[in-house]
Amino acid sequence: MPKTTQTVNPFDTARRQIDIVADLLDLNNGLREILKCPKRELTVNFPVRMDDGSYRVYTGYRVQYNMARGPTKGGIRYHPQVTLDEVRALAAWMTWKCAVVNLPYGGGKGGVVCDPKHMSKTELERLTRRYASEIAPIIGPEMDIPAPDVYTDSQTMAWIMDTYSMQKGYSVPGVVTGKPISLGGSEGRGEATGRGCAYTIREAAPHAGVKVKGGTVAVQGFGNAGSVAAKLLHDEQGAKIIAVSDSRGGIFNAKGMNPHEIEAHKTKTGTVVGFPGSTEISNAELLETKADILIPAALENQLGKTNAEKVQAKIVAEAANGPTLPEADEVFQQRKVTVLPDILANAGGVTVSYFEWAQDIQGFFWTLDEVNRRLERVMVESYRAVHEVAEARHVHNRTAAYVLAIQRVVDAMKLRGIYP
Ligand code: NAD
Repeated sequence: MPKTTQTVNPFDTARRQIDIVADLLDLNNGLREILKCPKRELTVNFPVRMDDGSYRVYTGYRVQYNMARGPTKGGIRYHPQVTLDEVRALAAWMTWKCAVVNLPYGGGKGGVVCDPKHMSKTELERLTRRYASEIAPIIGPEMDIPAPDVYTDSQTMAWIMDTYSMQKGYSVPGVVTGKPISLGGSEGRGEATGRGCAYTIREAAPHAGVKVKGGTVAVQGFGNAGSVAAKLLHDEQGAKIIAVSDSRGGIFNAKGMNPHEIEAHKTKTGTVVGFPGSTEISNAELLETKADILIPAALENQLGKTNAEKVQAKIVAEAANGPTLPEADEVFQQRKVTVLPDILANAGGVTVSYFEWAQDIQGFFWTLDEVNRRLERVMVESYRAVHEVAEARHVHNRTAAYVLAIQRVVDAMKLRGIYP
């Protein structure tokens, strides 16, 4: 890995990105300053009773970065290394992600400094419920709508929804998304990120000179986002999946592999490694595989200057958040590799979260077909809008996506004006 997340303060990165786009948009200093500051931040320190009867104090955050376009939206992360700056950066990125796919949302994010791998389910429930009640004054369907992120899931969302509802005295399903379907979750949410990524690749391929049908695909990280993207590219678009990996290593077969069979193998053995007919490769080799399309779908900071020079794919579709370092972006631009940036390529997840919220508010639920049709429309329109900006301004897709997103946020800010 070229650099670790610890060496880069993510909020510095997020602010640098705003400056670059602000220059392109010729924004005045006042607007720049507003864009570079989170609107609202809450830090909470709260006790949790552990299973052995002792108490521990945990620290949690909720940051509402910008709400010019609507209520803030973003996940809650449980991790020992959560910091306020990380949450601020993630909240800024959520603002741009929601804007690039034109959802009526601002961006937010939350986190609790804890080690969920070493906590029991009952401890996690008490931590979640207490954190939810601490942030309850600033969340709600019209204000800020959390969702799952690293080490939180649909059960965590169910506890938050219940805690918030108990305080209100009635059920408020729209306070969080990523809920179980039986509590007002949406059909299609589980596979939305991978599906959105597959649609984006389909739209971008002709512009990148790639034929998806019969084309070759390598996927780093055969988890939720990566495996769904692989299955859909294989089943619906006729692509050949020639390499995939997970945290234990990678597999390769130039003739192509069936992603459903890989999934079954992973379910049985816990890893993709050892899949019949494949040869073993490292994660580093996977990124440099001779494939038409590379999908980083695991972790951030995977592609730096050195390995970007060896990437052979014509399209890099970022299902993961932040897999490409800025210096790798430059290499890709020089080498004419088409990058589909994270705030576009993985926005299918937040898009179906938005659908979940809309269904909860109206109390009327859509079929899976309806969800997928609407998701497809959002992803196609968003890709086209980004591509248009990229062509018009002669910039690469990441810059174009930021320009589009930040322009939309700035337009809303200007129309609303500065209060009072
Ligand atoms: P996941 O846990 O389901 O899958 C992650 C996969 O990556 C696992 O198969 C894991 O084994 C693998 N992995 C871990 N370390 C690895 C390494 N060093 N090399 C190769 N593979 C490794 O997670 P996910 O939900 O699919 O999320 C993956 C990425 O997509 C993250 O960056 C996440 O932020 C992003 N994302 C996910 C969603 C979503 O809705 N799931 C939405 C937006 C963005």
